[in-house]
Amino acid sequence: MAKICHRCTSTTAVIHCVTETQNFCLTCDYLRHCECDAAGHIRYQICDECMINPALLLCSDHMIDLCQSCYSRHYNCVASGHHIQIINRFPQQQQKL
Ligand SMILES: [Zn+2]
Ligand SMILES: [Zn+2]
Ligand SMILES: [Zn+2]
Ligand SMILES: [Zn+2]
Repeated sequence: MAKICHRCTSTTAVIHCVTETQNFCLTCDYLRHCECDAAGHIRYQICDECMINPALLLCSDHMIDLCQSCYSRHYNCVASGHHIQIINRFPQQQQKL
């Protein structure tokens, strides 16, 4: 059961904003949170498997973001030689151009 973006109501949500308790697709998340009043909102990427928990791991071979429990339950990427990255924070909060 995929979550739908609250803003455009047509695209699968990939970001959850904790501050607003709303889900956004990538485009709407960007548009919403580039506004000054929303810049400090706490957000996380949603796990692609369960669509509930925050994603902690990114497998670039599966092209999927996973929470810890979905990863250990359904995937065995390290054993298959997949490239795993740890997602610690939403990238836009760390980088300033
Ligand atoms: Zn949207
Ligand atoms: Zn927000
Ligand atoms: Zn999950
Ligand atoms: Zn994988």
